[in-house]
Amino acid sequence: MRIVRTIADLRALLRPLRAEGKRIGFVPTMGFLHEGHGTLIRQSAARCDATIVSIFVNPTQFGPGEDLASYPRDLERDQNLCLEAGAGVLFLPETAEIYPTGFQTHVEPGRLAEPLCGRFRPGHFRGVATVVAKLFNMVQPDLAFFGQKDFQQTVVIRRMARDLNLPVDIVVVPTIREADGLALSSRNSYLDEDARRRALSISRGLLAAKTAFDGGERSAAKLIEIARVLLAGVDSIQYVELVDAQNLEPIQGPVDRSAALCVAAYVGKTRLIDNVVLSPSVADSGVTSSGTLQIA
Ligand code: AMP
Repeated sequence: MRIVRTIADLRALLRPLRAEGKRIGFVPTMGFLHEGHGTLIRQSAARCDATIVSIFVNPTQFGPGEDLASYPRDLERDQNLCLEAGAGVLFLPETAEIYPTGFQTHVEPGRLAEPLCGRFRPGHFRGVATVVAKLFNMVQPDLAFFGQKDFQQTVVIRRMARDLNLPVDIVVVPTIREADGLALSSRNSYLDEDARRRALSISRGLLAAKTAFDGGERSAAKLIEIARVLLAGVDSIQYVELVDAQNLEPIQGPVDRSAALCVAAYVGKTRLIDNVVLSPSVADSGVTSSGTLQIA
């Protein structure tokens, strides 16, 4: 696995691969990698000839008072995970490489960035869209892999790729969870034993709603209420919303199209997000819908 820190070195490394017609897969991350990232890298390695992983804690997607300065880092462990998962290139740019002096051009997402996390993290998706567009231009991947864990992000990035005619296919990988259901997240490292136990109520709430949905419950209000009741373990709920999976508009009344039940909540000072996708057409045909919680 090659490690590169500059855009020039990255381009020099990728040029011959592209000339040979190799399929390039890309997994953008902020590091402190876990098996969620590992799964994205493995999927890319399975489907592409070369997999590029970037680790860049992007300052423009953090708001004032958020955890930019304290975001967890462990580069040695990250390198091992990338290598073991099949990455060919690890791109580790400094902030000045991505945002040189004088930088002033941004990608401004539209309405999809407004609800859910966008309501509580103004500017977050502008930062995400900007850095992902820049990274796409640097790597020029054929396929780019994102986790369903950050559901709104996948919708915003897909839309951006379409709107800006970026020649990349966006692949969304289901959320990877601990055996007890907790969605893997770099931010789980902030949780002590008690907080971790309470954080579990997020996936439990979502699982309960999903189970009710699979059992035939279609009322959006009831599904939200089922999740909310079990969310009692967290310190504060930022939102529990059931939205149309395509346009992120709230679903009122029956869930008659593919939807995402999304949660953001605080356990102590740690903000956690999670979601499940509810697909009526699949569930109604008797097949288990995608995006199910896999709880051992
Ligand atoms: P991050 O390092 O948090 O920016 O995440 C990098 C990528 O990994 C994003 O596409 C995330 O959605 C994805 N990811 C994070 N956690 C998980 C998880 N538990 N399962 C699947 N993908 C994940």
